Amino acid sequence: MTPKHHEKNNVKGQSSTSPKYIFVTGGVMSGLGKGILSSSISVLLEARGYTVAPIKIDGYLNVDAGTMNPIEHGEVFVLDDGTECDMDLGNYERFLGKSLNTENSLTTGRIMQRVIQKERRGEYLGKTVQMIPHVTGEIKQWIKRTAKNSGADFVVTEIGGTVGDLENQMFIEAARELHSEEPGKNVAFVHLTLVPVMGVVGEQKSKPTQHSIKELQHLGIQPDIIVARSEKMLDKKIIQKIKLFGDVDHVISDPDLKSIYEGPVFFENEGLMTAIEDTLGITKKEANTKDWKNFIDSLLDGEKTLTIAITGKYTQLHDAYTSIFESLSHASAKNKVRYKLKWVETTDLSYDDAKKALSGVDGIIVPGGFGSRGVEGKINCVRYARENNLPFLGLCYGMQIATIEYARNVCGLNGANTPEVDEKTPHPVIHVMESQKGIDNLGGTMRLGAYPAELQKGTLVHELYGKDNITERHRHRYEVNPEYIKALENKGIIFSGKSPSGDLMEFLELPKHRFFVATQAHPEFKSRPLLPHPLFDGFVRACSTKKG
Ligand code: GLN
Repeated sequence: MTPKHHEKNNVKGQSSTSPKYIFVTGGVMSGLGKGILSSSISVLLEARGYTVAPIKIDGYLNVDAGTMNPIEHGEVFVLDDGTECDMDLGNYERFLGKSLNTENSLTTGRIMQRVIQKERRGEYLGKTVQMIPHVTGEIKQWIKRTAKNSGADFVVTEIGGTVGDLENQMFIEAARELHSEEPGKNVAFVHLTLVPVMGVVGEQKSKPTQHSIKELQHLGIQPDIIVARSEKMLDKKIIQKIKLFGDVDHVISDPDLKSIYEGPVFFENEGLMTAIEDTLGITKKEANTKDWKNFIDSLLDGEKTLTIAITGKYTQLHDAYTSIFESLSHASAKNKVRYKLKWVETTDLSYDDAKKALSGVDGIIVPGGFGSRGVEGKINCVRYARENNLPFLGLCYGMQIATIEYARNVCGLNGANTPEVDEKTPHPVIHVMESQKGIDNLGGTMRLGAYPAELQKGTLVHELYGKDNITERHRHRYEVNPEYIKALENKGIIFSGKSPSGDLMEFLELPKHRFFVATQAHPEFKSRPLLPHPLFDGFVRACSTKKG
């Protein structure tokens, strides 16, 4: 802790040297926006000059989100250090504008793994290992360690799901214990609930919130602040009722907003941070939210609306591609346009179908994916984009598909493919690197996390990044096969970014095309509202520029 920290965070009359802890819990039902609330709180603390370490807790037993199905669980987000985690971490990174690490993501699986490993090593000295104190102790240690290692002034911990969930009980108990152990006003509880609207007159109902508060109290936690989701602002009467029955001083409205990014400015205006400052007994400060206001203005103001096609098999689940959509939003705001999506289901999509689906769109994204379903249709889409000068951005599998398409249709390598689709392909233009072979355990065998790339001067990719050396995050098993690079380059593909060793192709582009760029990485994980990703920026700019 820096001396500066003591000064700014010191509570009058108390020589506090420890960080402050804010827990965000949810009641009534999940999906009310705890992630956005927690991110907004973190942004507003940082906008006051403090530093924040967010932690997202997920009650599931998976050690990480790597093997979870995106249809069920939404996107698997990847951090620089290769942690595969819940998509909420993506929100934190986007809101806070900084990169997080494995300590910011906590699951029951991770805690249990640690406890059991300790038990096997005999670290409990013959004691009976129990939920309390050992599991709760491990959770508290994790939270305190994150505070210490990050040096943050505040740890904002979001407990996923709702307080009634069985799998959350140990986390809630750990939070309760931390509150009772910490000196002074070091811990605040913010509880997000629902105020439903009933009947034709649209009456707001406080009862579910009252029940939810009771449930929390039953677990030994008195919430300090209630944030209530409802379509509209809360009626005064409802606020009074919740205050009285829930024994809380602060009740904050959380109505529908046009964009999640309105969260920080909205909550600031509603006094959420004053409530937190009161609860934690810290000096009231002004927040600097100017950049956020500017971003929201440009996000909501775009004049022209682009139609962006996206291929994929998770077409029924928007959440599987959240980071891509967010990256498009950031880039659209910067380019003063809006965008709407056109989903292209590629299973059994012929070239003629692709032509029909894509004529009239402004650009196409072929995102990451696994398996063979829909791959031929995606190849048809890329071919259409290449032949018709339609802006194309390929992400991970999208780059592999672009390579296959070029190999087949331009280099004449009939039957070119990836072994992921056809193990017997005569031209494995995509393959598994020797170093990756022999690893067959599904959890954690991919090229994961941040890897460097060197960009070739004079290429579009180099121009967009404006740098020679960059890093991007990865999550894949296969790579472009070095044996085919010459053949592809001879016919015009430029591998504009490679690994420093030169054997991994990280970016490709076609120079004569308006915008034909693909990367083996997942740049969508690094776009921020206040700092749009250069590839998405370039793609959106190309889509919004008239065909010349
Ligand atoms: N399936 C491909 C691979 O494993 C691409 C993965 C991805 O798009 N994330 O290499």
